[in-house]
Amino acid sequence: MEKPILFYSTNGRSEPVTFREALLKGLAPDKGLFMPQRIPPLSGDEIAGFAAMEYHEIAHAVSWKFLQGQLPDRDLAGLCRDAYDFPVPLEHVHGRQHVMRLDRGPTASFKDFAARLMGRLIHYYLLQGNEKLLILTATSGDTGSAIANAFFGLDNIQVLVLFPEKEVTARQRKQMTTLGGNVSIISVDGKFDHCQALVKEAFTDPELAHLPLSSANSINIGRLVPQIVYYFYAYSRLRLQPGEAAVFSVPSGNFGDMMGGVLAMGMGLPCQRLVVATNENDEFPRFMAEGSYRPIEPSRNCISSAMNVGHPSNLARLISLYGGTMDEKGQILRLPDMGRLRRDIFAVSVSEAETRSTIRSAYEKHRLLLEPHGAVGWAGLQKYLAAAAPASDLPCIALETAHPAKFPEEIRSILGFDPPLPPSLQGIEDGTESSTAMANDYRKFKNFLKKNYS
Ligand SMILES: *Cc1c(COP(=O)(O)O)cnc(C)c1O
Repeated sequence: MEKPILFYSTNGRSEPVTFREALLKGLAPDKGLFMPQRIPPLSGDEIAGFAAMEYHEIAHAVSWKFLQGQLPDRDLAGLCRDAYDFPVPLEHVHGRQHVMRLDRGPTASFKDFAARLMGRLIHYYLLQGNEKLLILTATSGDTGSAIANAFFGLDNIQVLVLFPEKEVTARQRKQMTTLGGNVSIISVDGKFDHCQALVKEAFTDPELAHLPLSSANSINIGRLVPQIVYYFYAYSRLRLQPGEAAVFSVPSGNFGDMMGGVLAMGMGLPCQRLVVATNENDEFPRFMAEGSYRPIEPSRNCISSAMNVGHPSNLARLISLYGGTMDEKGQILRLPDMGRLRRDIFAVSVSEAETRSTIRSAYEKHRLLLEPHGAVGWAGLQKYLAAAAPASDLPCIALETAHPAKFPEEIRSILGFDPPLPPSLQGIEDGTESSTAMANDYRKFKNFLKKNYS
């Protein structure tokens, strides 16, 4: 058997660690992000074999490549079976173009895919060491509910989610506040950035060092590995000739989702091009075009709100994989191989007007119902095809990352009707809500932590 894969820090000043350690730490001690030292390949036969496998079996096969030697094979198989018990539809739109709906999990967002397996892996390792953890997460909507749902009912783990009172929809709020049990929620009188700042300060506060704090945010390697899986799954459902390449398009914010695609390509996914579609926060498309990088500060407010990111936190991983270095402040210390980056990735920004008109035209032309994030991905795909492959008939897959029913106001104003609720969102209106309201004040937050978790 091969040696287990170790995980290095993108800042290069910490020792490589095992998966378990990278998962439980989140961030490397030198503030870099963990990356696998090598990308394990899947053979053509293994990839062809996925066509006859269920989603959870593919999840097991793909994640096993990274976790070999870190837990028994059958334990990982069990965690995957338990995590992935919902459908993953690949919707045919027209010609060879498809939309993969990653919105049928318990919180109707693609973040369920990462959160559910990561939660089970963390729980698994904690039980082994009889350890406890307090997960602190700031959210602008989707992350908080996916994390809260994924960790709900797991003993040894407490979850505390902070959200900006006025920036999440009522539905998003109820997905968090109606759980109870080991999940507690604080609504902060402030913006998402304030919630994030409160959490960050708690992590570095020596007076809270006795608390077993961990975060479950998008930089945890435990979220990346599960996000490789659905690229292989979608590819397997296209039933192409062996090795025939497809185009994938991914609506992107913090770049965790697209890193899943990039790692899948590294493992051998036959991918002609990965389209990385952003909203008007276009720092990455500009970087790809110009070769110099400038974060957008403050980030622009677009209707694809989960992608309002002026500096993607996973960008340092992409830069590292292509031979460059980016530090934790977003400075590029060594330029990556831009030629290779441009061959693999087509980066494109989609405006607010284009996002809205795409929601309208996709529905009118194809009866394809998209919400704002998925519309950015679909529009990005169309732009790529028009620019780079006008006469081709490439098999294409655009990712839809949330259910349209999470954004009823936007859909109603553009299409004139309310999107039907998926089963996961039904009944949520009737649940009893419980949360703590708090001013944006670190002293109050700290007292809350001391009082409730010491
Ligand atoms: C988080 C999120 C995204 C962006 O994903 P990243 O991995 O941060 O790029 C896109 N769409 C939805 C609905 C999301 O919740």
